[in-house]
Amino acid sequence: MIDNYNRNITYMRVSVTELCNLRCRYCMPEEGIAKKAHEDMMTAEETIMAVKAAARLGIRKIRVTGGEPLVKRGIVKLCGAISHIPGIEEVCMTTNGTLLPRFAKELKAAGVSRLNISLDTLDEEKYRHITRMGELKDALAGLEAAEQAGFCETKINCVLMGGFNDDEIPRFAELTRNRPIEVRFIELMPIGGGIGFDKAQFVSCETVLEKVPELESLGREDGVARLYAFPEAAGRVGLIRPVSCEFCEGCNKIRLTADGKIKPCLHSAQEISLKGMQEDEMEEALRRAILDKPEKREALDAESPSKAGRDMNQIGG
Ligand code: SAM
Ligand code: SF4
Repeated sequence: MIDNYNRNITYMRVSVTELCNLRCRYCMPEEGIAKKAHEDMMTAEETIMAVKAAARLGIRKIRVTGGEPLVKRGIVKLCGAISHIPGIEEVCMTTNGTLLPRFAKELKAAGVSRLNISLDTLDEEKYRHITRMGELKDALAGLEAAEQAGFCETKINCVLMGGFNDDEIPRFAELTRNRPIEVRFIELMPIGGGIGFDKAQFVSCETVLEKVPELESLGREDGVARLYAFPEAAGRVGLIRPVSCEFCEGCNKIRLTADGKIKPCLHSAQEISLKGMQEDEMEEALRRAILDKPEKREALDAESPSKAGRDMNQIGG
């Protein structure tokens, strides 16, 4: 469906839970979050109805996310149901990867076509620090499990944090020389836990090109990522600049939270509830949400944090 600013909205991120088995410092509070009442969250049936309604409006790609989608009970069945909805051409998932050794094969069989795995450091101690409770070996085992299950074009999401992992940029980029993966460097956003970060930690993606000057532009984009690669490399590097660069003009997505709110824009407090509705009512609410999608986000930097009003685990990145 075309919105009021001539953008074709074809992509919906569907958060299936706010809960997570990690506590990344830029995302969630240390103590986790209070579990909301079961009746306030979308049921699997409601999520499927919402995707059916969205598909009728022209949504073609779904990204299942969270919180951590793999802690959601029945996640494989839900992905399978979504992948069979007429009109849905692609189902992807963003995950921290730690539970992929258990789920990768089943997800592939259920119709999930591609995975984004979040990994901000290749150092065990730093991984423990940034996730507050995770083990690097579990995330690496997840990456391995994805490969073994036959997932192709896997992407690694690496949030850039000055003074934390900018020294690892060359090492991450090197992963793409011999493996057909995309390492995506993402600018830290002042949203959720990211709001408490020091100004100096918000480094721009330009740092990547300064630290790895051999990277050559591929002259094209993949969604919001501008693509680069080493000459003759098997993989590529993507730069995602949500802070230093505004990509609102080409934004083709909406988000559905685990408690049933449509967020037409990540950085706006505007939310339209689908909870408790029948499918045709959902379709109408989704239509209104798409037409209400703002033209652009407001200012976003360390001094002007996101107006989203929720942490990232409660929205779905
Ligand atoms: N738990 C899954 C994971 O970590 O991949 C999916 C949900 S997580 C909220 C989705 C993505 O949002 C992750 O890649 C994470 O790094 C990113 N994210 C969370 N908070 C962020 C922030 N403040 N700035 C930039 N990216 C953030
Ligand atoms: Fe959990 Fe993902 Fe947020 Fe980390 S970024 S706390 S893994 S939801």
